[in-house]
Amino acid sequence: MAIQIDGKLVAQKIREALKIRVVDLVQKYHIIPHLCVILVGNDPASESYVRGKSIACEKAGIKSTILRKETSVTESELLSLIDELNNDSTVHGILLQMPIPKQLDSEAIIHRIRADKDVDGFTPINVAKLANAKPGLVPCTPLGVMRLLQEYGVTVAGKHAVVIGRSQIVGKPMAALLLNANATVTICHSKTIDLPAIAHQADILIAAIGKPAMIDSTFVKPGAVVIDVGISKVDGIIKGDVDFATVEPIASLITPVPGGVGPMTIACLLENTLTCYEKLVN
Ligand code: NAD
Repeated sequence: MAIQIDGKLVAQKIREALKIRVVDLVQKYHIIPHLCVILVGNDPASESYVRGKSIACEKAGIKSTILRKETSVTESELLSLIDELNNDSTVHGILLQMPIPKQLDSEAIIHRIRADKDVDGFTPINVAKLANAKPGLVPCTPLGVMRLLQEYGVTVAGKHAVVIGRSQIVGKPMAALLLNANATVTICHSKTIDLPAIAHQADILIAAIGKPAMIDSTFVKPGAVVIDVGISKVDGIIKGDVDFATVEPIASLITPVPGGVGPMTIACLLENTLTCYEKLVN
């Protein structure tokens, strides 16, 4: 039986520590850390994510502003808004909530964010820094996974880590972080042939697919550490990519969904906001 990784608890610990750090920093600099979130349209899932981020900021003593734009907003309007925020010395972090309407070039808009205010770590400078193992802003979800591995004493160096998923926001940065931590990394994706056999070689298996319960025990080597990043809603219930019932008995450590990786994403967003703040006000 695996030990369940309690992401909620670890995230809570991080958030409590950040709260104390914010008090110290505000005393020192007399400036309140400030995150601006741009929300385009009224997608209910995005609304809920943004609300969650905003509440977490307030609890940590970080000011958050949600800048709402209609679905009809133009790319140039969004670029101007980002320019304004880039130049506003009272703003320390900028985040564009995804997805945005298809007619807008999300890449061009994200790339406009100043690298030192890029709390999501999606701009080319931060992507390049991560690829080159240089300090920079790292995407929150993979950063949260690394924190969980660290917190539960998982040795990454020398281990075979298999990451299933190659998105810009999870799979690729996850693989880069594991590689930078000296794991031997394999990246799998929708075109991978014989995924179960490759996944079965993993000491650390990371599922970031978005296919509920796809990873059953046939994909998992006994004793492996299994991290489930996936979030899908099935009949109103949140499900991960891992078939918890069959994998939990053979894994050594496993994240539940919900309560595993999810809470860490927000904790790491707060941490990234403070990282930006400290660099900008210093
Ligand atoms: P994505 O759709 O951009 O990428 C999914 C990846 O899975 C792709 O690279 C694709 O090649 C791969 N894939 C799809 N089908 C596959 C298959 N049959 N076999 C092997 N690989 C396959 O998604 P994403 O943005 O990377 O997110 C992945 C999952 O993580 C989603 O469920 C998302 O909701 C969740 N997510 C969770 C958090 C969190 O805070 N926990 C944050 C971001 C994303």
